[in-house]
Amino acid sequence: MGRKLVVANWKMHGNLAANKLLLQEYIRRLSPLENTSVVVCVPYPYLAQAQSILQNTNIAWGAQNLSKDQVGAFTGEVSAEMLKDFGASYVIIGHSERATAYCESDENIATKYAQAQKHGLIPILCVGETLIEREAGVMQMVVGKQLDTIINTYGASVFANAIVSYEPIWAIGTGLAASSDQAQSMHEFIRGKIEVLDKDAAASMKILYGGSVNPQNAVQLFVMRDIDGGLVGKCSLNAQEFEGICSAVA
Ligand code: PEP
Repeated sequence: MGRKLVVANWKMHGNLAANKLLLQEYIRRLSPLENTSVVVCVPYPYLAQAQSILQNTNIAWGAQNLSKDQVGAFTGEVSAEMLKDFGASYVIIGHSERATAYCESDENIATKYAQAQKHGLIPILCVGETLIEREAGVMQMVVGKQLDTIINTYGASVFANAIVSYEPIWAIGTGLAASSDQAQSMHEFIRGKIEVLDKDAAASMKILYGGSVNPQNAVQLFVMRDIDGGLVGKCSLNAQEFEGICSAVA
């Protein structure tokens, strides 16, 4: 199965002084971990700081969004090449907090996914259903459609070495994580969907779970066959809790 991957999503938290302490704690606590790869996705203004503190460590860094366009008159946008300038290797795409608040369409998300890969960034594609959709039993249809927009435009091979993060919207920031069975079942669906189209891509992609992961529930989640790690919001802002999650893999 390979190493597990844990990604910190700091969202819009932090400042220079607090980030410095948190990143130093990450290095002290997480660098010795042998079974886990760690990535931290910081707000854009702190990419330079992440680069200067994390370079030459085994912790990678990335951003939480990118522009669907390459260059031009797009005020306020940040391009893939700009992220690369600051050593970013990863970028979160289609997080539900953005999809909802900034009306990101599946088509926009697919274009961003392609833009990231074109510039050598590893996309972390977020998919997931609302509570209403889960209660109606249509969660696989919803997640399937989110993946289809990319598959139908670019083919399933673009999932090779990429990362999909299953993030049920009802579990994000609520303290109510999906059960390990609920998560495993969706992860199996996601991998199976890619597998019928491209076996190699399905084998090389990582599928993370995100939504109220904490040190207490991480072990039950990460032990599941198709859960390759986690995307962590709130608990990534506390080095001790984040360590608890990252070491759950061991
Ligand atoms: C997230 O927003 O990606 C997330 C998983 O948040 P939290 O861990 O706080 O639920």
